[in-house]
Amino acid sequence: MFRLIDHRMDSHSQYILQHLWGGDGLEVCAKGENPQNPSLISMGEFPGHRPTFSCRNCRNPVAFWQDLISKDFWGKSGRAFLFHHAMNIVVGEKEEKQLITGLFTIANISCSNCGEVMGWKYVQAYEPRERYKEGKFIIERAKIVKEY
Ligand SMILES: [Zn+2]
Repeated sequence: MFRLIDHRMDSHSQYILQHLWGGDGLEVCAKGENPQNPSLISMGEFPGHRPTFSCRNCRNPVAFWQDLISKDFWGKSGRAFLFHHAMNIVVGEKEEKQLITGLFTIANISCSNCGEVMGWKYVQAYEPRERYKEGKFIIERAKIVKEY
């Protein structure tokens, strides 16, 4: 069961929910995320393709810094990043998930080399204000390493 915690929730509430739920697929939109302007990371901060993010298990590169949209998401293992694009991953079967912000179709994504589940892809959002997430990827911070 995926849940989406309200943007305005403070960090203490996020902590409680994270640890009470603790189960599969907890997703939290952190404070400061702006659906009208999701590109919170300026391009000038991370010029070029380096560093890249690689699978923690097998070092298969899965995403570029320049495709990073937001670090302010949470997956089941903690902080997660939202990316415009991911590579060398396998997109699983689509499934519908009811989040607090509405109904989404998502698909788990896994490393194409070792099969480790990395996060999920937003396939479709049914609420207009959530549509900016469509086609984008959540990758859990704990599943990747940054390589220069
Ligand atoms: Zn891997």
